[in-house]
Amino acid sequence: MAKKQFKAESKRLLDLMINSIYTHKEIFLRELISNASDAIDKLYYKSLADGATGLNRDDFQIFLAADKDSRTLRIRDNGIGMTQEELDQNLGVIAKSGSLKFKSENEKNEDIDIIGQFGVGFYSAFMVSDHVRVESKAYGAEQAYCWESDGADGYTIRECEKADHGTEIILHIKEDTEEEKYSEFLDTYRIRSLVKKYSDYIRYPIRMEVEKT
Ligand code: ADP
Ligand code: MG
Repeated sequence: MAKKQFKAESKRLLDLMINSIYTHKEIFLRELISNASDAIDKLYYKSLADGATGLNRDDFQIFLAADKDSRTLRIRDNGIGMTQEELDQNLGVIAKSGSLKFKSENEKNEDIDIIGQFGVGFYSAFMVSDHVRVESKAYGAEQAYCWESDGADGYTIRECEKADHGTEIILHIKEDTEEEKYSEFLDTYRIRSLVKKYSDYIRYPIRMEVEKT
């Protein structure tokens, strides 16, 4: 598939995220974990409604893995996943962005107010990443698809290999600058403390892969 451009509104939100001077960039993890939890909820409720899907509540989990060498942070769920169309619809167009509406109405306000007051969702990943890859296999589907983007420059969706249903978000964490130490988001202890701080209420287990040394 050729590179697709983000819708104008989405692009504005993305630019806001990429160039953000917001001091609490760490909230991206809360957003991605909450999406993972929502996706598991959807599959769990579907399994209750349909019966006999062979899924147990105990099987659901969210998995985090950081790798300093490749500068990647992975957030994986075994929730409902997304089809090719859903990847395009849900990640290409952030329609309901409260943040953006707020931004247009209060053009002079600083990012800090906007991001603090509204859920910024998936695009908050671009506050800390220069590349985002989303591998997803919809529950019941044969084929998995991979959504990839550097942010401003549009996105692609391609077929990819993925064994199980659910979604894996692979963030390539930005290089450190004088002002910002992004590498903290590759640190297992830091990630654990962020999970404790923001995602303690999540009803599914959040497991962390211990980094190989
Ligand atoms: P919101 O969660 O408020 O709907 P987001 O920007 O966080 O907005 O996410 C946009 C959409 O992308 C979600 O509504 C959902 O449909 C889809 N999505 C994001 N992450 C996942 C995931 N891990 N699994 C399945 N769908 C997801
Ligand atoms: Mg969300």
